[in-house]
Amino acid sequence: MNGRANEKIMAKRPRIAVVGSANVDLTTFSDQFPKPGETIFGQKFDLGFGGKGANQAVAARLCGADVFMVARVGDDLFGPSTIKNFEKLGIDATHVRQVNGVSSGVAPIFVDPSGQNRINPAPAQPIDIKAVADLDYFVPNETEAEAISGMPVRDLDDARRCAAKLLASGIRRVIITLGANGSLLAGSEGMEHVPAFSVKSVDSTGAGDAFIGSFATFLGEGLPEREAVKRANLFAGLSTTGVGTQKSFYGRARFDAEWIEKGKA
Ligand code: ADP
Repeated sequence: MNGRANEKIMAKRPRIAVVGSANVDLTTFSDQFPKPGETIFGQKFDLGFGGKGANQAVAARLCGADVFMVARVGDDLFGPSTIKNFEKLGIDATHVRQVNGVSSGVAPIFVDPSGQNRINPAPAQPIDIKAVADLDYFVPNETEAEAISGMPVRDLDDARRCAAKLLASGIRRVIITLGANGSLLAGSEGMEHVPAFSVKSVDSTGAGDAFIGSFATFLGEGLPEREAVKRANLFAGLSTTGVGTQKSFYGRARFDAEWIEKGKA
């Protein structure tokens, strides 16, 4: 089949702009966490590109969208390499600005042999619900849902109560991601729990970003909302089967093969 004919039967190719953070994750693997003032030997060091905005942009790109990143980086070693990483992946980085006199965002992470880590992951800030009321979708994880609603979100029933409160305060559509429990889709017509896929999960870092980036792409391709959520559950679930954040995201061809196998169930 020639390229043009092939294009005709393909889904719409969404154009997605991501406004958000781009960080560098500095992960040190050591036998123990250093005590204050202590110098210890590390076993391994890993430098990876991260930040919630950047992760979502990469997820959307790997799913096949045309992606435009809007962010700022510092004028240190990490600034240019962060921009290069976007360009290498085919993400438009025209609007990633390097700012003089500031450092890039970094996340120093210590991991001990049991896999326990010390990090400061995506600190959810309490925000005014009115500030997000005009969004088409609000997609928090359980911790973020808790921070914005002020109520505990530990299980599906809590999530339903929280979603009801968020809808009542004017947010149009809410998707609360629930880790291994999948996600809860809520709107004025009601709520639906969309279960996760069963995967061999080893590291769930970045799963929420994988969900959001892939959901936006599937929705932009014109898929019905529920199917987009189901596919995003699989894309995010698969990302937990590998270590790391962006590194653990599947490309579209690998994802499609898994979807053919698991998605129809
Ligand atoms: P965050 O990474 O922001 O904390 P979640 O942990 O809620 O977000 O994960 C986002 C999505 O990733 C979930 O809605 C689910 O679809 C998928 N997911 C996360 N952990 C697992 C798991 N252990 N098994 C299957 N899917 C998972």
